Parts: sequence; C-alpha cells; structure tokens
Amino acid sequence: MDYNVIIIGAGPGGIFSAYELTKIAPELKIAVFETGNELKKRRCPIDGDKIKTCINCKSCSIMSGFGGAGAFSDGKYNITNDFGGTLFEYIGKRKALELMHYVDDINLRHGGEGTKLYTTAGSKFKTQCMQNDLHLLDASVRHLGTDINYVVLENLYNELQDKVEFHFNTPVEHIEVLENGYRISCKNGAYDCEKCIVSVGRSGSKWMEQVCDELQIPTKSNRVDIGVRVELPAEIFAHLTDELYESKIVYRTKQYGDRVRTFCMNPKGAVVNENTNGIITVNGHSYEDPKKQTNNTNFALLVAKHFSEPFKDSNGYGESIARLSNMLGGGVIVQRFGDLIRGRRSTPSRIEESFTIPTLSATPGDLSLVLPKRILDGIVEMIYALDKIAPGTANDDTLLYGVEVKFYNMEVEVDEHLESRYKGLYVIGDGSGITHSLSHASASGVYVSRMIAEGL
Ligand SMILES: Cc1cc2nc3c(=O)[nH]c(=O)nc-3n(C[C@H](O)[C@H](O)[C@H](O)COP(=O)(O)OP(=O)(O)OC[C@H]3O[C@@H](n4cnc5c(N)ncnc54)[C@H](O)[C@@H]3O)c2cc1C
Repeated sequence: MDYNVIIIGAGPGGIFSAYELTKIAPELKIAVFETGNELKKRRCPIDGDKIKTCINCKSCSIMSGFGGAGAFSDGKYNITNDFGGTLFEYIGKRKALELMHYVDDINLRHGGEGTKLYTTAGSKFKTQCMQNDLHLLDASVRHLGTDINYVVLENLYNELQDKVEFHFNTPVEHIEVLENGYRISCKNGAYDCEKCIVSVGRSGSKWMEQVCDELQIPTKSNRVDIGVRVELPAEIFAHLTDELYESKIVYRTKQYGDRVRTFCMNPKGAVVNENTNGIITVNGHSYEDPKKQTNNTNFALLVAKHFSEPFKDSNGYGESIARLSNMLGGGVIVQRFGDLIRGRRSTPSRIEESFTIPTLSATPGDLSLVLPKRILDGIVEMIYALDKIAPGTANDDTLLYGVEVKFYNMEVEVDEHLESRYKGLYVIGDGSGITHSLSHASASGVYVSRMIAEGL
C-alpha cells in the first residue's frame, strides 16, 4: 500500500478529514489528491478590465484547489440541522451539531478568533416574519468573511503540509476496488490505499456519477433550486443583517403553493460569477474587513424544483436554464425589478440611471425570457412579501441577477458511517449529495476520519 488513507478533494470535507486524521492517528500515511492548485496559486483570471468574463480555465480557481468551492466564499459556517444538508439523517442531530461546533472551534484556533457568531435564538424577527406569512429558520452562523476564511485556510494548510502528502493539479480519474483496499489512478500513475475518502464537491459531481456507475453504487437525484440574486442598498436589510447576519426566510406562494427561500445573504457584499461545468451562474460573498465592504447587500431567492418519474436529470434542467441566460447575455443577466414588473428589458442606460449601483458587471437584459413563468412569479411574490418586513425590497431599482442555480449532487447511497457498499470507501461532503454547506461538509470529514481511526 502507498498510503493508509487517500482523500480525493481538498475542499472543507477533505481538509477536515485530513486534519482530524493527523490529530488522532498521526502514524497514518495520508495523501490528498486535488484537481486544482494550492491556495496561494488559486487566481481567477477575470480582472474586470482585460478579461471581463469567464474564459473556462482547465480547472476553475473559484471552485477547485485547496479550500474547494469554499475558499473565496463568504465563510458563513451555519451551525444548524435546519438547512445546509441532511447529515443528521445519517449520524443523528446531536452528533451533527456537536461536530459543527468542533469545526467552529478549529476555525477559531486557526485565525477565526474574534469573528462574530450570530443567532436567531430569541430574535424578534421570528414573530415579525410569521405575522407576514414568512418563516425564519433557526441557526447560529459564524461569519468568517472571505478575508478571514482565507487566513484560516492558509493556517490549516501550513499545519497540514508536513503531515499529509498533497498532490495538486492531479485529478483522480478512476477508483478501482482491490481485495484489501483501493487503487486510484491519475494521469501520472496509480496509488493504492487501505481506505479512501471521496470528497469531490459540486465541481466533481459529473465525475462522482461516473464512479458510481463504474462501481455500481446506487444513487438518487431529483432536485434543483433555480432563482435570482437580489441586490439592494444595505440599509434596507440592515435591521435584519445587523442582528442575524444571514436570515434564511421561507415563503409559500399564494399562486402555486411553491416554496421560495432566501439563501446566502451577504451584507455589504459583492455579487460574483460562478462557473459550474462551463456554465456561468451567479453567487455572492462579503468581507469581514469594513474597508472591503460595499454599499449593497445581496442574497438569492430560490425556488426548489422536484421532478417525478420519468424525468431524472434535474441538474440538466437547471443547466439548460442557466445556458439560456448565457446565450442571451453572454453570461449573467441583470435586470431592475421595476423593469421586470413593467415587462421591459433593462438597458445599459436604465442600469446606469439606477440608484442601486451593481457590484457585478453583468449584461442588462430581460429575465422573463430566461426563467420559467412559475419560478419568476414565485420570486416576484416573495419580493413583495419581503417588502413588508424590509420596506424598499420591492423598489424599482432593486437589481435581480440571473440565473442563480443551486445544483444538488445526486445522493450517493451510504450507511450511517457514510461508507458506501464497499468497506473502507467513504463518500462525504457536497459530492455525496448529503451536505450542501461548509459546516456540514467539514463535519462529515471529521466524522469519517474518526470512524477510520477507530477501525485502523
Ligand atoms: C462562491 C461560493 C460561496 C459560497 N458561500 C458559502 C457560505 O458562505 N457558506 C456555506 O456554508 N457554503 C457556501 N458555499 C458552498 C460551500 O463552498 C460548499 O458547500 C463546500 O465547499 C463543500 O465542501 P466539499 O469539501 O464537500 O466540496 P468542495 O468545496 O467543492 O471541494 C471539492 C474539491 O474536490 C476537488 N475535486 C473534484 N473532483 C476531483 C477529482 N476527480 N480528483 C481530485 N479532486 C477533485 C475539487 O477541485 C474541489 O477542490 C459557497 C460556494 C460558492 C461557490
């Protein structure tokens, strides 16, 4: 055997697997294989000047490399079982929360000290939301911010690099089952290990599907969330964001009974492009450092779409809608809310005249040509509902960027140890379809490492 444990993917799932193994079983020989670069070499070429839009790099620096999709994220670690994944269904609610707190402690010890932990407990907004047919979900959220999140990752890498063998720019192509372990093959060779942790995140979803096909590991999938990113002056949501930082609010539409929810709220943040398998969608983040903050707050409004038989390709559906916006706008489209409800496109001059200054250079256009009517109707209804608790949300100058798509990896069949039908082959993090967040993905890494250390 070349290694006791091979970890595929250096996102939060992979990093916390490696971290925990080095702590509790330092004698083990561990390797991490990662498609992308080490942290300091991760750089997206879009500079807003010479390169304005995505040029489809071989490996996307935003999604891949040490830190995974979370490296340049807002670093919001939500400590809750109410959203961010269904890890608790496998390991129990108490254990899941305990591990999320454990991860939080590690982040604090690696540079996150002094960052704020917000909580919905005892908040007056819960009542105010309910009185307006909106539902605020329970959570505590540690906001590291993009800047501190980076420092934490840097410190974790410095600590791990002497104890773990990192193979960057080395995508794993295949996993082969051996009699007493696993062989992973990459362009530069093959490596054998006793135990293998697969933590390939969202960017590895297609590859994960291929592995499950090859190894006949059952999967299921049928959900995608589609919507827009809303951007408005920070003052409009300040009363909520000052107290809660992020509020996850759910609304059931009157017209269709669909659920629309807020997602990934970034006070004084910036809207950014995201590249998933070559398709440009929208996302957002914000900095802890006041000097880097903007005057706007952004958040997503998403509608969950579940499909029933015979249709199975929910991600393909989301991709097609995102492709449509890329076709019309050459990337992400931006539209003023006032233009949308008047049934007209936004033009460069209408955006220029807007009192809300966009933080992302996107193409002014018409989102009603992209989003299915039912989804768009739900979003408009929710904007009016939010206007009751945050007056100004439904202003003409509120900006909507489209499309935001939250792809869900198909759910890989694993047991309560997050172990596949093959003993010693674990599938964790967002790549398993079980987690959808930094805290849940990290917690799943700690969890399997403890299982492995016990077994070995
Ligand atoms: C812009 C942005 C902002 C976000 N903000 C937040 C936030 O504030 N809070 C939150 O909770 N979540 C946020 N998320 C989501 C969060 O980043 C993910 O939930 C989290 O990173 C999942 O961790 P993971 O380790 O499972 O996967 P990932 O972070 O996706 O890491 C997987 C790694 O595996 C590598 N990989 C893939 N395939 C292979 C292969 N075949 N061989 C080798 N390596 C491979 C990838 O390159 C990647 O580095 C955000 C995401 C984005 C894109």
